[in-house]
Amino acid sequence: MTTTKPPVLWLNVTIFTLTFLIAVIATPLYAYFVGFDGAQWLMLLFAFSFCGLSITAGYHRLWSHKTYEANSVVRFIYAIGGAFALQNSILHWSSDHRIHHRYVDNNDKDPYSAKRGFFYSHIGWMLREYQASRYSDYSNCRDLQKDKIVMWQHKNYVTLAILTNFGFPLLFGVLHGDIWGALLLIGVVRLVLSHHTTFFINSLAHIWGSQPYTDKNTARDNGVLALLTFGEGYHNFHHIFENDYRNGIRWWQFDPTKWLIKSLSWIGVTKNLRISPEDRIEKAKVRMLHRRVQQRLMVNEASLSNQLKLARLDEEYELLLQKIADYYEAKKRLIELKKQNLLKHYESFEFLQQYNEMKRMLEEQRQSWQRLTAQYV
Ligand SMILES: [Zn+2]
Ligand SMILES: [Zn+2]
Repeated sequence: MTTTKPPVLWLNVTIFTLTFLIAVIATPLYAYFVGFDGAQWLMLLFAFSFCGLSITAGYHRLWSHKTYEANSVVRFIYAIGGAFALQNSILHWSSDHRIHHRYVDNNDKDPYSAKRGFFYSHIGWMLREYQASRYSDYSNCRDLQKDKIVMWQHKNYVTLAILTNFGFPLLFGVLHGDIWGALLLIGVVRLVLSHHTTFFINSLAHIWGSQPYTDKNTARDNGVLALLTFGEGYHNFHHIFENDYRNGIRWWQFDPTKWLIKSLSWIGVTKNLRISPEDRIEKAKVRMLHRRVQQRLMVNEASLSNQLKLARLDEEYELLLQKIADYYEAKKRLIELKKQNLLKHYESFEFLQQYNEMKRMLEEQRQSWQRLTAQYV
């Protein structure tokens, strides 16, 4: 039986191949014979960031997942940056991405399923007409079809992509005095870097890294990838808490997309930033660790000592879940009391003491859980 492969998308193949070859062959030669100066490197960094953040903060966290709202000026800037990044229109990209989340790792439905291998999920999926039947089916993005900027960008995508990809480098080249240098560095190298770092989210971030929150899909947390992708490397967290405007939730995690969205909210151009409840995040992590240790111990389930260890593990696990629930319930009530300005009352004072006690007990239980699980993982 012969299986016919879907037709090749020659335009995509040509763009990816040509830009890649120019970036790796012509650019070093130009650097050697003519050279680039500081202003050009700085402009490369700026243009790369403009493209990257338009995709991560705009296409991804704003439009695909609706994790916050942005005013029309911000949306317009993202729409231009997205066309400059040459990753298709907002509508098309978001439609693909919503399917990716819904059917993650399903080789027939996930447009860039990581289970089809590195090459396919990185770039292969765009080289042939794999899912031609749904190319113009945007029924999963009805909400986005009400956004005038999204529809304007979708209708004028090709024009915008050409204008930005030639216009910005040419403009800079003329002002700076080296048109060819600008076309190479700001035009081609910027595009190739922006393409492949974004593609890493679909490929590497589903292959390389840790799974602290869930192992129900292939998504991984990876700090190195976060550095290259404006924070999108914390992909394991993202696949379970996709409505959260953050991907790196700790202060020390590199997530400039989060910093950008938050900073913009201080000047009022973004609002309603959504975050996942802390207790759900902590519970997910605890559940994952419990499963992992359980799996280790199950290997030799027959031994009595392992059975005892499993029983103790379950006991500590249940205790921790209970204490998490108690503490966050109390925390919610404390916030309510604060809101109503009732903390001065006598009962509230008593409640505050209870709250502090719960906090202390949870901390103790966390430590005991850590000590126990550290022996196995
Ligand atoms: Zn996503
Ligand atoms: Zn993913």
